[in-house]
Amino acid sequence: MKRIWVILLLASAIQGADVTLSMTGQSMVPNFVRIAATHQANRMFAGIGVRLESEKQNIQGRSEGLLIQVRFINDTPGHPGAWGFSNPFDPVPLVTVLYDRILLVTEGDPQRRAAFLAHVLVHEIGHLLIRTNAHSPEGVMKAHWSKADCTRMAYRPLPFLPDDVEMIHHALALSSTTGGRLLPTVPPGSPAGERF
Ligand SMILES: [Zn+2]
Repeated sequence: MKRIWVILLLASAIQGADVTLSMTGQSMVPNFVRIAATHQANRMFAGIGVRLESEKQNIQGRSEGLLIQVRFINDTPGHPGAWGFSNPFDPVPLVTVLYDRILLVTEGDPQRRAAFLAHVLVHEIGHLLIRTNAHSPEGVMKAHWSKADCTRMAYRPLPFLPDDVEMIHHALALSSTTGGRLLPTVPPGSPAGERF
């Protein structure tokens, strides 16, 4: 069993990431929360066969995959009811996390803050990969997580639905033929703001 893991890890190291996150403003997030959240996000994408990693400092060059900027900010006006938003129709993929709102929504239960942040990251990265602001009826790509969803995600991650997985793999396969650029799957028809 150990040998299988070594082979898988080696294969992963050779292939590099499908998606690399480059973060700014992350100093406002305690290290243990950010690290736990990014590890959980990595696992959620690994569960659907997508390799996600954070950009490592002091490493020259990076893998061939898609680079997504993630910025953490506070005190952002607008985007009512959102914990983050993304820009699936812009050429430079960017996820914005409204961290003060995540602090507020998890105030009564800080233990689930990392899991909540992971889901916000995964949801917004999902929009960027699929290049659409459309939502799924259930799971991590749902438009509005219920209270039960929020409780559940602390113990078991909300899943991608099969259609989400298919669209993400389709988009990544296309991007590998366009030098890492993702192509829109749905024309922009609504404001760039994202509910979450
Ligand atoms: Zn959304």
